[in-house]
Amino acid sequence: MSIKDNLDKIKSELPLGVTLVAVSKTKPNKDIMQAYDAGQRVFGENKVQEMVQKWQDLPKDIEWHMIGHLQRNKVKYMAEFVSLIHGVDSPRLLKEIDKQAKKHDRVIPCLLQIHIAEEDTKFGLDKNELDQLINSEEFKTMENIKIVGLMGMATFTDDKKQVSKEFALLKSLFDDLKTELPDIGILSMGMSGDYQLAIKEGSNMVRIGSSIFGARNYS
Ligand SMILES: *Cc1c(COP(=O)(O)O)cnc(C)c1O
Repeated sequence: MSIKDNLDKIKSELPLGVTLVAVSKTKPNKDIMQAYDAGQRVFGENKVQEMVQKWQDLPKDIEWHMIGHLQRNKVKYMAEFVSLIHGVDSPRLLKEIDKQAKKHDRVIPCLLQIHIAEEDTKFGLDKNELDQLINSEEFKTMENIKIVGLMGMATFTDDKKQVSKEFALLKSLFDDLKTELPDIGILSMGMSGDYQLAIKEGSNMVRIGSSIFGARNYS
């Protein structure tokens, strides 16, 4: 199957209102252009340098999403153009995004990453940290970021019940948060292996890489 075929198949399965982020990390520009030529405009990367290079090389109507774990010292390189940052997991990182966005006279949309998996290796805030962050005085003074929703990654397991339970937890945090931040609308959850489960649990943004572009080669 070609990249276009994969993309068409996935798009045909997504309910209306679910945004597809095509995760193009490690993939060459020619693969991205195949997806672009098939109509895809939203791409996700997890390394800042790689995303900057692709942004420079590729058409300017692409929306670049940073989906990976982010170091504060890298924010400045993408502040000019990044469309959405999915993995905001600390007040210090948010503060840095705010500072760099201000330099470019922008407001950068951000998702707060919530830790829902059993694995300690995955990043994200817990419920208390989320409450603290959004109720802090500092948060209220940040004018160059906008929290537009939440993001999470489920445990890597074949146990569908476990995965669904984790997504359901994130959905309930999202619904709770909406009462405090009525403008939030994005719930980013689901990857190649679990996006159908994520959509059943209320996801409206899926981040899909290998099912579109094929397996990644990290060697
Ligand atoms: C790599 C990655 C994805 C996509 O993973 P696939 O299994 O290839 O679909 C989604 N989200 C994040 C945060 C990732 O790092």
